[in-house]
Amino acid sequence: MNIVLLAPPAAGKGTQALILAKKFGIVHISTGNLFRERIKVGDDLGHRLANILASGLLVEDEIVLQILASRLEKEDCQNGFILDGFPRTVNQGELLQELLNAQNRKLDYVFYLNVEKETLEKRVSGRRMCSKCGKIYNIYNPSSKPEKDGICDICKSELVIRPDDNIESYSKRYNEYQTKTVPLINYYHNNNLLYEIDGDRNVDEITEEIISVMKRDELND
Ligand SMILES: [Zn+2]
Repeated sequence: MNIVLLAPPAAGKGTQALILAKKFGIVHISTGNLFRERIKVGDDLGHRLANILASGLLVEDEIVLQILASRLEKEDCQNGFILDGFPRTVNQGELLQELLNAQNRKLDYVFYLNVEKETLEKRVSGRRMCSKCGKIYNIYNPSSKPEKDGICDICKSELVIRPDDNIESYSKRYNEYQTKTVPLINYYHNNNLLYEIDGDRNVDEITEEIISVMKRDELND
């Protein structure tokens, strides 16, 4: 089973990807872990990638594709994969399509977790991290609020706001998503691969809906 997950930033895409990968015995591939693994391999491409990342430049689509192509050929991808963070643009979506065609594979599902911008902004602005153990809290969410304001439940250290968790930096990421990824969502919709999921719910409910879409789809086959 081959899946792509799309969502605006801070919508909980990575969390869902991990859960689904485990549930279906498929490989979770995020650009982050894809790059880290490749750098560890230490070959030419790995060195090139390390240099690009160290210089803060964007990794070109062709390079990402090359790395992804060899990752998908590994044994553990036989059952399938779930892509998280790639593709992000229509161009990347088309390149991925070509790659899958060449490998005799196809995408089964593209899940789009839809969450309103206002909800996401609130999530981001309510996020607090323990300065010591790294545990994440959300002051606006009753189920992930710390027991005592500003203090970690576990290690009693001070909670801090991460530099990235502010509205300006979030807006930048969100605008990039709007201009680059929303057209990709339309692209998958036009290719009849897109399944829209209401992402404004708790983690378990989202997983359940994704699984029920898959079951419904199986019955219709
Ligand atoms: Zn802590």
